[in-house]
Amino acid sequence: MTELSGEPFDLLVIGGGITGCGVARDAAMRGLRVALVERDDFASGTSGRSSRLIHGGIRYLENAQLHLVHEAIRERQTLLRIAPHLVKPLAFTWPLYRGARVGKLKLAAGLFVYDLMAAGRSRRHFALDAAGTLQREPSLRPEGLEGGAVYYDAATDDTRLTLANALAAREHGAVVVNHATVTSILRHQDRATGAIVARNGATEDVRARVILNATGVWENNFTTEERARRLRGSKGVHISVARERIGNREALTLISPLDGRVMFCLPAGSQTIIGTTDTWTSESPDAVRADRSDVDYLLGSINHYFPRAGLTRADVASAWAGIRPLASGGAKSPGRISREHSIVVDDSGIVEVTGGKLTTYRSMAAEIVDLVQSRLGRERRPSTTDSVALPGAGREAAIAQLGRENAELAKPLVPGLGYTGAHLTYGVTNEMALTLSDLLIRRTHIAFETRDHGRAIAPVAADLVAPLLRWTPDEKSAQLRAYAAEVERMFSIAGDY
Ligand code: FAD
Repeated sequence: MTELSGEPFDLLVIGGGITGCGVARDAAMRGLRVALVERDDFASGTSGRSSRLIHGGIRYLENAQLHLVHEAIRERQTLLRIAPHLVKPLAFTWPLYRGARVGKLKLAAGLFVYDLMAAGRSRRHFALDAAGTLQREPSLRPEGLEGGAVYYDAATDDTRLTLANALAAREHGAVVVNHATVTSILRHQDRATGAIVARNGATEDVRARVILNATGVWENNFTTEERARRLRGSKGVHISVARERIGNREALTLISPLDGRVMFCLPAGSQTIIGTTDTWTSESPDAVRADRSDVDYLLGSINHYFPRAGLTRADVASAWAGIRPLASGGAKSPGRISREHSIVVDDSGIVEVTGGKLTTYRSMAAEIVDLVQSRLGRERRPSTTDSVALPGAGREAAIAQLGRENAELAKPLVPGLGYTGAHLTYGVTNEMALTLSDLLIRRTHIAFETRDHGRAIAPVAADLVAPLLRWTPDEKSAQLRAYAAEVERMFSIAGDY
C-alpha cells in the first residue's frame, strides 16, 4: 500500500512537464484529489530544454496569431506577478540591417501592437539609430546596420518553474511522484479507470475517475492513434558559448541570415545561450540530441552578426535538444505551425492535451481543470492560480541558512558558479530530487554550465547526498554510471567530436 493506491483519485495526471505539473497544481487548489506520475524527473522532457522565455511571441504577429499573442502577453504579466522569483523582465535588442526580411516599418508596427496588447502593463519599446544600437551592443557587425529597437519580454528558469508547480500541487494535497512510469491504462468496459504504475522495481494500480495524458511528445502504449496523428515533433537545439567570446551585453532577437527564422541570443551568467533550430523530427524524445548541422546553423547565424567572435565548434560549451509538441498533422514547416494547444477526450474518457507553450501553461491548465470538473460532475470552482504565488521565493535564503549551519555545505561545488553542497542537500530534502541527474541537471544547472557537464563534480556530489538518499556503495556507483550516460546522451553532438 502506497500513497498512490487505495481510494480512486479524482484526477490522475500522467507526465510531469510544465503541462502536467500546472494542471496538478490547479486541480489540487480547486479541492480535487490529484495524483501526478512522472516517468523520470519533473522537467526532464521538453520543459527542461526550452529557451527559458516567458514571451508574448513577437514572431507570432507575423502569422497574425493575435489571440495567441494576446494570451501569451496576459500570461507573461500573470507570471511576473505570481512568481517574481522565477520570472523576470528581460530587455531584447533587435538590430535592423539593410535588406533584412523584417524591416524598420514592419518591426515598428509589430512592436506597437505588442505594446498595445500589454495595455501599459509592460515597459514600452523604443527605437534606436545605428549608433544607439552599437552603443547597446558594441560587438554587433556595424556594416549594413540601420538601427534597431529595444522591447521587453521575460525570462525564467523552465525547470524551476515546472518544479514550483509540482511542489505547489503537493502543498495543496496532491500525491506527486517522480521516477514512476505509467506502463498501461486500467480499463473497465472500455472506460479508463486508472493506470498501472511501475516504480522501484514494483508495480501498483492507481485508480482515478479522470485521467489526463500530459506526456508531451512521448509515445506510450496508451497513446491513441488520434493523438499520434495530431501530434508532431519539432526539434529545437540550443548551444551555449562563453559570453565574452560573443561580447553581447543583453538579449538579442536576430533573423538568421541562413533561413530568415527568428532566433535568440540570451545572456546566462558567464555564458550566452543561442537558439534555436526548428525542424521536424521523428527522433525519440529519449534519444534526441543536437547534431552537427544544428550546431553549424546556430554558429553560422551568430557569426554573421558577431563576425569578430569567429565562433567555431570548439567554442561550444554545451549543446542540447528538445522536441516541441505541436498540435498539427499538417506538413507545413514547423515554424509556421501554431503554438496553440488542443484538448480532446478519447473514446475511453482519457483527456489528452497536445501542444502549448511554457508561457501559456497556466491558462491551458485552467481550461483543462474546468473540463475535468465537468467530467466529474462537480460544482464548478474557478481557478485561482493567477492570484496565488508560486512557491520557492525563500529557497536561496533557506540554502544560505544550511550553509551557515554547516560550513562544509557552504563550499562552492564548481569555481565561478554559485552552487554549493547546500543546494544539493536542499534538492534532496525539499525538492524531491532522487538521482544525481536530478541534482546536477535540474535542481542545479551544473550540467548545462560546465564544459564537462558536471562529470568531475559528480563523485563529490554523490558522496554528499549518499547518506540522505541511503545509497549503498553499489548504488552510488550505479548513480555515477547513470549520470555519465545521461549527460553523454543529452549533451553530445551527433556525428561529431
Ligand atoms: P514535457 O515537458 O515533455 O512533459 C512530458 C512528460 O511526460 C515528460 O517529463 C515525460 O518524462 C513524461 N512521460 C512520458 N511518458 C510517461 C509515462 N508513461 N509515465 C509517466 N510520465 C511520462 N515555450 C515557451 O513558452 N517559451 C520558450 O522559450 C520556449 N522555448 C522552447 C524551445 C525549444 C527548443 C522547445 C523544444 C520548446 C520550447 N517551448 C517554449 C515550448 C515548451 O517548452 C513546451 O511547449 C512545453 O515544455 C511542453 O511541456 P509538456 O509538459 O507538454 O511536455
